[in-house]
Amino acid sequence: MTAPSAPPRARLPEYSDVVAAAARLAGHAHRTPVLRSRLADAMLGAEVVFKCETFQRAGAFKFRGAFNALSQLGDAQRRGGVVTFSSGNHAQAIALAAQLLGVPATIVMPNDSPAIKLAATRGYGAEVVIYDRITEDREAIGRRLAGERGMTLIPPFDHPDVIAGQGTATKELIEEAGALDYLFVPMGGGGLVSGAALAARALSPQCKVYAVEPEAGNDGQQSFRSGSIIHIATPRTIADGAQTQHIGELTFAIIRRELADVLTASDAQLVEAMRFFAERMKIVVEPTGCLGFAAARHAGLPIRGKRVGILISGGNIDLARYAALLGA
Ligand SMILES: *Cc1c(COP(=O)(O)O)cnc(C)c1O
Repeated sequence: MTAPSAPPRARLPEYSDVVAAAARLAGHAHRTPVLRSRLADAMLGAEVVFKCETFQRAGAFKFRGAFNALSQLGDAQRRGGVVTFSSGNHAQAIALAAQLLGVPATIVMPNDSPAIKLAATRGYGAEVVIYDRITEDREAIGRRLAGERGMTLIPPFDHPDVIAGQGTATKELIEEAGALDYLFVPMGGGGLVSGAALAARALSPQCKVYAVEPEAGNDGQQSFRSGSIIHIATPRTIADGAQTQHIGELTFAIIRRELADVLTASDAQLVEAMRFFAERMKIVVEPTGCLGFAAARHAGLPIRGKRVGILISGGNIDLARYAALLGA
């Protein structure tokens, strides 16, 4: 099914918005480590730098966009509270940012969300409203709650302040590691990779930026290649942070303009990467967080001898599920 690509409703964020977001996040978000691995360098034949958002507050990069968006709300909006829909990490990020800023938060989450994500969201003091991922429309539920309760809706990716906040991860990576030839970024709705592309274009203009989706849910790849936003059914994949049915209007506009291509990785490749991160680098990475590395390893791009950045986007996964996936 193809939707006509309407002009974006909101202003497209720019690199100056990423810089402003970085100033807002200073002292609130972690400056996450940039790790190296000799084995990864040897496997890819490249100089590989990993930006590890597993160590971000609430366990994923999403805190960056959430805090950047919430910290710009006016007094009346803060009092009214915020609502969002999410498969998990954005929910936790909004809940934590809201708690830090004293804003009430309501989170619409699917009934099959990992228990750890539900518990963490409630633990930050947010109200959780459950919906059925297969039969109900989370965006409609979020909008209805916003209307009924007078709350401000903060969507997980299609929002200029969210995109700008996510861009700060790549800003930090390039400032610390230097110019890159390639950058591989996990993609669901495209907020992370849109922000990454804004930062890379400004700080390392020659860098080729690739978004990576789960093979079973390549709507972004179809959209990028066809030139209009493609909608798909909820994909079945272990990458639960990238089960979006379509990318956003703002993210699509940036993705079309800035990306080299959109790649995919299979669930088996994600498990292989999870194992590599655990065994060799001692990092617990959730399946979605492995998309970038899996594509760098398997997509067959000419990265030999190049400087390659990989965003590891998050590490939130139930231990039982983690063990089951690794066959432990
Ligand atoms: C949300 C999320 C993504 C996808 O980010 P988008 O901005 O929706 O493209 C990737 N990895 C993790 C761990 C996430 O939580």
